[in-house]
Amino acid sequence: MWPPAGPAWWRGRALAVWVTRAACLGLPRPPCAPTLGAAGESWGLSRLYSSAERKEKVDMSRFPVENIRNFSIIAHVDHGKSTLADRLLELTGTIDKTKNNKQVLDKLQVERERGITVKAQTASLFYNHEGKQYLLNLIDTPGHVDFSYEVSRSLSACQGVLLVVDANEGIQAQTVANFFLAFEAQLSVIPVINKIDLKNADPERVEKQIEKLFDIPSDECIKISAKIGTNVESVLRAVIERIPPPNAHRKDPLRALVFDSTFDQYRGVVASVALFDGVVSKGDKIVSAHTQKAYEVNEVGVLNPNEQPTHKLYAGQVGYLIAGMKDVTEAQIGDTLYLHKQPVEPLPGFKSAKPMVFAGMYPVDQSEYNNLKSAIEKLTLNDSSVTVHRDSSLALGAGWRLGFLGLLHMEVFNQRLEQEYNASVILTTPTVPYKAVLSSAKLIKEYREKEITIINPAQFPDKSKVSEYLEPVVLGTIITPDEYTGKVMMLCQARRAVQKNMMFIDQNRVMLKYLLPLNEIVVDFYDSLKSLSSGYASFDYEDAGYQTAELVKMDILLNGNVVEELITIVHKDKAHTVGKTICERLKDSLPRQLFEIAIQAAIGSKIIARETVKAYRKNVLAKCYGGDITRKMKLLKRQAEGKKKLRKVGNVEVPKDAFIKVLKAHSDK
Ligand code: GDP
Ligand code: MG
Repeated sequence: MWPPAGPAWWRGRALAVWVTRAACLGLPRPPCAPTLGAAGESWGLSRLYSSAERKEKVDMSRFPVENIRNFSIIAHVDHGKSTLADRLLELTGTIDKTKNNKQVLDKLQVERERGITVKAQTASLFYNHEGKQYLLNLIDTPGHVDFSYEVSRSLSACQGVLLVVDANEGIQAQTVANFFLAFEAQLSVIPVINKIDLKNADPERVEKQIEKLFDIPSDECIKISAKIGTNVESVLRAVIERIPPPNAHRKDPLRALVFDSTFDQYRGVVASVALFDGVVSKGDKIVSAHTQKAYEVNEVGVLNPNEQPTHKLYAGQVGYLIAGMKDVTEAQIGDTLYLHKQPVEPLPGFKSAKPMVFAGMYPVDQSEYNNLKSAIEKLTLNDSSVTVHRDSSLALGAGWRLGFLGLLHMEVFNQRLEQEYNASVILTTPTVPYKAVLSSAKLIKEYREKEITIINPAQFPDKSKVSEYLEPVVLGTIITPDEYTGKVMMLCQARRAVQKNMMFIDQNRVMLKYLLPLNEIVVDFYDSLKSLSSGYASFDYEDAGYQTAELVKMDILLNGNVVEELITIVHKDKAHTVGKTICERLKDSLPRQLFEIAIQAAIGSKIIARETVKAYRKNVLAKCYGGDITRKMKLLKRQAEGKKKLRKVGNVEVPKDAFIKVLKAHSDK
């Protein structure tokens, strides 16, 4: 039977927590002025105007809990979530229907440039169904594995999901992962088969896959084309008929969950809130359960999809709240807000995100340290899944060690720093969080615990002080056409993977499950998988704890001196290959000097790879520019400027960007 009958406590817990992101930082709003269509007009709301022209505020008291539906759109990357969201916004009159509506909820520049969703987005839609007015809160979610934290937060806000599957590609790895997230949360699942307009679309095949893998009868699948708009109305009908309303109580004291927040230069913190119980309005005195600080509410409203102030927000509803929080640390995601006069038990909040990779981040120039610090603080407020620790390096100066959910997440964070805060940074090679069980009493005393997590390779404890090392592992799901199964298995073997399961999801598609060390997949596993399967295989993974591993610390030496930035933790069996590659890359990026430079990779005192940079024989300046004094002066000046950016390792001068080149090349490997 589908949906599974969830226990009553669950329905209570799963009520209105919508994950959203209020207006993106400083970016222009989408060109579409939000309007209410037929549904809105019949409410006497007339048109909604842009913030400056707005005349009437929406009366949210007209939406009792039984007329509210909260749902997420989930799917594998590119199966059409954001396009379906566009059509739903149009159909409900939330945005005008124009040819230009392409993934309108993807508001960030990085999302538009890359064509991917990285941030879950909410839109409140007003819809008239069989004479009743409904408030539909839609959450468009990202599909990439790095952002599944966004998906799971979104799901805890919903009572149902639209599971979108491409009619051409069928079920992919993230389809499976997302389905099980929704299944475990006991949500109603509405399967939507999209892109039926494509020439090679085979919706019947996809129906069979859905039935086989998820046990959902094929007559529950809705076949649509989100691009053209075919059959999208029936999706809205199914949302109302198949998804239950939230369980919230207007008469109880206010309990509002802060599930996201953004920082606005002028208005301070704009908190996204979901009302579990009660009512909140402008002028109310509220308290943060986390800090115990009191605030006065300056503005409340809904996202439609842009900010639309309202008089009040009621139980079961979601919107934004501005209350004069000026400091980014005042708005904690997962915090509960309540009325000053009516203290309540705080809501459980969210489990914090678990970083999968760590990398050092440094300002390109130390004079930019403070600017970068404030940019990182503000951006982490919008992206709570990034963890930040202060760090420093001899070559790169003062900086931070940041934890990310994956490499794409790291790239996106870096790109957002550049685009939204104009900050350019140096990133070091990413590393996964290893662990060490200490045996040295002295170290245990120093760390105050026996098992430590190592997020900086420079702090890797020596084997003599450790009883065992542990590495993080993940459970990977790969879906591939049968003809590539052999190649996929070979790749997994080379990555030290252990096969856990294998099944056919139809005549020619295989689903494989592997236990994989995280460090074997973070960098290039996905790319290798794509290229060996001509782009057809897909991959997703979930955290699977730790396993013991024979890890070693590899030093890179320049004429016998250790280069701190390039210390790498590797599996014993991979040390030789990785060491050789780093030495080769470093050789290519080091300029010749007046003496020979030995580049070595070493484990303890044992050298495992070596390259040599030969010395210059003559003074290049004298030779090339002997006669032309102005050119010679210019060159000397440039050389002096260049020297400022040099780092000395022993007697060897290393341009700053040489490390970055090596690190980048190393991670591209
Ligand atoms: P998301 O990653 O799941 O959000 O997918 P998008 O909505 O960004 O869509 C990915 C690509 O598929 C875009 O190029 C869309 O134009 C295209 N697309 C989405 N829906 C359809 C459809 O129904 N038919 C066709 N032919 N293309 C579609
Ligand atoms: Mg999208």
